[in-house]
Amino acid sequence: MMRIILLGPPGAGKGTQSQFISKEFGIPQISTGDMLRSAIAEGTELGKQAKGVMDAGGLVSDDLIINLVKERISKPDCANGCIFDGFPRTIAQAEALVDADIKIDHVVEISVPDDEIVSRLSGRRQHPASGRVYHVKYNPPKVEGVDDETGEPLIQRDDAQEDTIRDRLKTYHDQTAMLGGFYQDKSKAGGDAPEYHQFDGTQDIDVVKEQILSTLK
Ligand code: ADP
Ligand code: ADP
Repeated sequence: MMRIILLGPPGAGKGTQSQFISKEFGIPQISTGDMLRSAIAEGTELGKQAKGVMDAGGLVSDDLIINLVKERISKPDCANGCIFDGFPRTIAQAEALVDADIKIDHVVEISVPDDEIVSRLSGRRQHPASGRVYHVKYNPPKVEGVDDETGEPLIQRDDAQEDTIRDRLKTYHDQTAMLGGFYQDKSKAGGDAPEYHQFDGTQDIDVVKEQILSTLK
């Protein structure tokens, strides 16, 4: 059993690195952002409630997210663990994991300064069905505009406009950034707490991958 949390600002490379960790350890990636975007695409009640907040760069309510995550990790594919990508995003979400006795083994924080985030997020392209992430410059697909494995079209997300990116960064600094310190303190206290590790996310994708995988092994 291995449960991992990936922390970092939007665009830090959480989704990119999740895919490598998932392959290496055979555990699924749970991206609350991807789950919310599918709910929107399917037109469910959750999707309707989430859309406005997401387009404005804010956070979906803790209760909705916590229920979504609890339901997801009860599925059989999570029996050997999972990677949380984009969750928790508030102290309340982190506390909910403790209250529900969902034990975390590792917290991986990927740090990237704000000025780099904007160029990363405006060049990001995604294959919605698989969650695979590309970048027009830093990590281009083999053929422009299409997914390497399926040949299906890549999309740019609705929240990729520069002013929305700024709003999302503000939300991150106001509500999420403190989780790094939260887990760092817990890790130092030892006991049952997750181990905390920090990585410099401005390095090449392969370098970050190598550092994370060798730390987790
Ligand atoms: P990114 O990959 O850019 O960090 P995500 O795909 O994780 O963004 O999330 C997109 C949006 O979905 C967020 O801006 C937020 O509105 C919502 N969201 C995702 N995860 C959470 C969460 N754990 N708590 C609250 N809102 C969330
Ligand atoms: P997050 O899930 O944290 O929001 P992503 O994994 O979606 O971040 O990455 C954001 C964008 O930056 C994507 O277009 C991705 O291809 C690109 N990217 C990810 N890691 C790096 C890196 N180390 N160097 C340059 N670009 C990167």
